[in-house]
Amino acid sequence: MSTSEDAVHGLVVAITGASSGIGEATARLLAARGARLVVAARRVDRLEVLADALRNDGAAAVAVTADVSRREDVQRMVDTALAEFGRLDVLVSNAGISAIGPLGDGDVAGWQAMIDVNLSGVLYGIASATPVFRRQGRGHFVTTVSTAGLKIVPDMGVYAATKNAVRTVMEALRQESTDGVIRTTSISPGFVNTELDGSITDPVLREQIRSSMDSFGLAPDAVARAIAFVIEQPHDVEIGDLTIRPTVQN
Ligand code: NDP
Repeated sequence: MSTSEDAVHGLVVAITGASSGIGEATARLLAARGARLVVAARRVDRLEVLADALRNDGAAAVAVTADVSRREDVQRMVDTALAEFGRLDVLVSNAGISAIGPLGDGDVAGWQAMIDVNLSGVLYGIASATPVFRRQGRGHFVTTVSTAGLKIVPDMGVYAATKNAVRTVMEALRQESTDGVIRTTSISPGFVNTELDGSITDPVLREQIRSSMDSFGLAPDAVARAIAFVIEQPHDVEIGDLTIRPTVQN
């Protein structure tokens, strides 16, 4: 397929949580296929390195420092897409943290942080991008949820709850959008080898997750390819849910 025939070519895609892991891999893959990127996260140094690399490879890319738990930051990211590229085709709401631990630990601050980033961050994206998608007559919300919401296990209760709340919101949005303007997709990855363990404070739990990621976690690029797959479908084809896990994961 020549580049100009690629359905991803020319799309304007904003990605939250693009400074590492799945978000960064998705930005690199989509940029290589000719998408125009707005990459967002808090670590400006990492974002600038990424945006420079994408531009050096010939892509159009702009970095936005944004904390998705702040409504105005998410709005600024969407506004930047419009200012730089005149439109926004896809919002990949991928930023997330995993402050996991037993409920009995009562880590209220960690629970609130997960709600603020994993759930409110996605809601702010919907609030900011929906008017744009409606004006354009089309747009696509892609969110990174988790198999942790499909198979409930100890220590991941609040994390899974935030992910399943997003899944619920996406299904409601789908049902409210059957006029064909807005597509919604929830991607559920299993273990992926990223920096997500960095938000786990319990050292034993953190080591367990790190060890699973290292021994059988998917490369982030595998999830990036899944995201590209849902985006590249013709607009009348909506892949609502996609689960992607290591073959050996139970
Ligand atoms: P990483 O930790 O590598 O990436 C998380 C990204 O989210 C980083 O870019 C981080 O950037 C960003 N982020 C965190 N908090 C905020 C915030 N408040 N505002 C803006 N950006 C933020 O992990 P992954 O790539 O694995 O995580 C990506 C998504 O995939 C998450 O939603 C995660 O829950 C989900 N997921 C991951 C799985 C895994 O096994 N790795 C499995 C299932 C789902 P910065 O710190 O610079 O802000």
